[in-house]
Amino acid sequence: MSVVLMYHGIFPDNNPDVIDAEDLPYALSVSDFTRQLDLLAQSDVGLYDQSKMPEVVITFDDGHASAIELAAPLLLERELPAYFFVTTDFINQRDGFMSGDELAELSRMRGMCIGSHGVTHRFFDDLNSSESLDELISSKRALESWCEARCDSLSFPGGRFSPQTLAQLLEAGYTQWFGSEIGLVDTDRLHEGGEHVATGSLLPSELKNAVENGHVDDSLERESDATLSASSDRWQLAALRGQQPLERVAIRRNTQLPEFRRIMCQDLNYFRQKRRNSQVKQLIRSVVGNRLYHGLYKSILAR
Ligand SMILES: [Zn+2]
Repeated sequence: MSVVLMYHGIFPDNNPDVIDAEDLPYALSVSDFTRQLDLLAQSDVGLYDQSKMPEVVITFDDGHASAIELAAPLLLERELPAYFFVTTDFINQRDGFMSGDELAELSRMRGMCIGSHGVTHRFFDDLNSSESLDELISSKRALESWCEARCDSLSFPGGRFSPQTLAQLLEAGYTQWFGSEIGLVDTDRLHEGGEHVATGSLLPSELKNAVENGHVDDSLERESDATLSASSDRWQLAALRGQQPLERVAIRRNTQLPEFRRIMCQDLNYFRQKRRNSQVKQLIRSVVGNRLYHGLYKSILAR
């Protein structure tokens, strides 16, 4: 099993105001973040690929300026790799978020991987088919052009997606996608997928067909394993997992160190209890709808 941590912004200890009020419950002070990283430095932390299933994966959502200003130096000091999922319309445009140059600089740092978090941060389950595909493709293109590197991972804004979104991911060229559903990632299942299907160096459309039809063509099976590239390995990982996004755990401003230790230790009781809470929230959301739910959430925060 592995655990994927979901961070957002980081703020200087005495200055939480650099983070927008609505993002603050998900932001951490530098001191709290540093204490967590010191614990993480003793664990097996990495990025996902077929040959390496780390115990812990670190991710950041949205593209806050603190990613490069505060988080990256602390990660580099401890040689901890991380994913940064970026909403491309925030770049060069929104106060408190990275510029294109900063994003490029971050992508060149050792172990730092830039992924998409959509173009506008609209929730994918609120979009029609062409809007959804456009968010997937345009954000990927923008990131690849800023960073001059492949962008093949994504996290869903608000953790929201629909079956339509999942069906479009391979077509858009993604190999890994992360949700916000709390849980542990079953790495055995990821391994199993890779071993059962020898896909060789398939094109995204070929793998998509193979997965949809429930089989892989004989001629494809005969392809040499040696032709497997690192990227197609990563791509099987997500595709063969039934296309469901990888689970994560949100680290909040009020996540204290004892709770963080339970997350790191993969304490099953902790995950069960949190999952039950999240199912109740999902039920409420399915009744009242995304927009009203988030309106309620913000008005509760504002009190
Ligand atoms: Zn987000």
